[in-house]
Amino acid sequence: MSDEPTPFTADDYRARMERAAASAADAGLAGLLVAPGPDLVWLTGYQPTAITERLTLLVLTPGSDPVLVVPALEAPDAAGAPVTLRDWKDGADPYAVASPLLDAQGRYGVSDNAWAMHLLGLQRALPDTGYASLTDALPMLRAVKDRHELQRLAAAGAAADATYEEILKVRFAGRKETEVAGDLADLLLGHGHSQVDFTVVGSGPNGANPHHEAGERTITEGDMVVLDFGGLKHGYGSDTSRTVHVGEPTAEEAKVHEIVRTAQNAGCEAVRPGIACQEVDRVARAVIDDAGYGEYFIHRTGHGIGVTTHEPPYMVEGEERPLVPGMCFSVEPGIYLPGRFGVRIEDIVTVTEDGGRRLNATDRGLAIVE
Ligand code: ZN
Ligand code: ZN
Ligand code: ZN
Repeated sequence: MSDEPTPFTADDYRARMERAAASAADAGLAGLLVAPGPDLVWLTGYQPTAITERLTLLVLTPGSDPVLVVPALEAPDAAGAPVTLRDWKDGADPYAVASPLLDAQGRYGVSDNAWAMHLLGLQRALPDTGYASLTDALPMLRAVKDRHELQRLAAAGAAADATYEEILKVRFAGRKETEVAGDLADLLLGHGHSQVDFTVVGSGPNGANPHHEAGERTITEGDMVVLDFGGLKHGYGSDTSRTVHVGEPTAEEAKVHEIVRTAQNAGCEAVRPGIACQEVDRVARAVIDDAGYGEYFIHRTGHGIGVTTHEPPYMVEGEERPLVPGMCFSVEPGIYLPGRFGVRIEDIVTVTEDGGRRLNATDRGLAIVE
């Protein structure tokens, strides 16, 4: 059976661009300037094969048709996007092509990954314009997923789950973290991912460093091993963590794992429309605090996921924006005991009308591996 997703249509992209332009107007912006990257893909479906020093820029102005400024040599590739193309040839000044599309006194939201040289070029051409980070100005622009996006996120989650089921069967003891990480990457690709973003294998003390990816350490009997992996399938992200143990765990290891499992479950159970994002963090954190490990839970509880594997909304203290049906994010509390071991458990959860639905379904108990 093919699991090719329903393609997005030109109408889907037009609706997104219209909504983005309207949100920009609501935020007091004259428009949005979008460089190649996740925002451009999400808004237009267009992803240049290579991002180069040549200016490619989508100009979204409320009430006007979207215009994509594009290098002439890229124009044929961009022709499928539902936008008006304005091309420029090598040797021409691309900012002279882009600047007439802008309000010379306007303030624009600029995609976070736009190259500084392009923004500086626009500022030179239009010294009275102002700029804001698109993510700061419109943090929730991509946060609420539609039905077809949710299907893709669910498919990516299922592929990550299949990867986890299979990694439990590989040998851990006596192999390096990097070898198990390679197995994870192969499995993600084998289950239809086009891109692997991270394959964390944190064994023993390495698991206590949430930023550790995988290193030369040889995994041994008695190790806790944090596994955290994901990437993109059909353009949408996966991200899941489970912690396994090589051989029988000690009572303390089992206890710490159970605390994280309870916290993670509480965080997922708290998800429902209308509560503040920070509430998910508070609920998960309270379990770990109450168990006496609060100082060892050293990161936020979760992050959004969509066409990237890390994006708003963030489940973090201070984020008071409400959960809305269709939002998708991770719930991933952890406990990190320096020099000893770490535990993290992570599922992607989507907000439904009456609660939350997990897009990862593998067993969250402490699996014993060999
Ligand atoms: Zn152990
Ligand atoms: Zn993760
Ligand atoms: Zn994550």
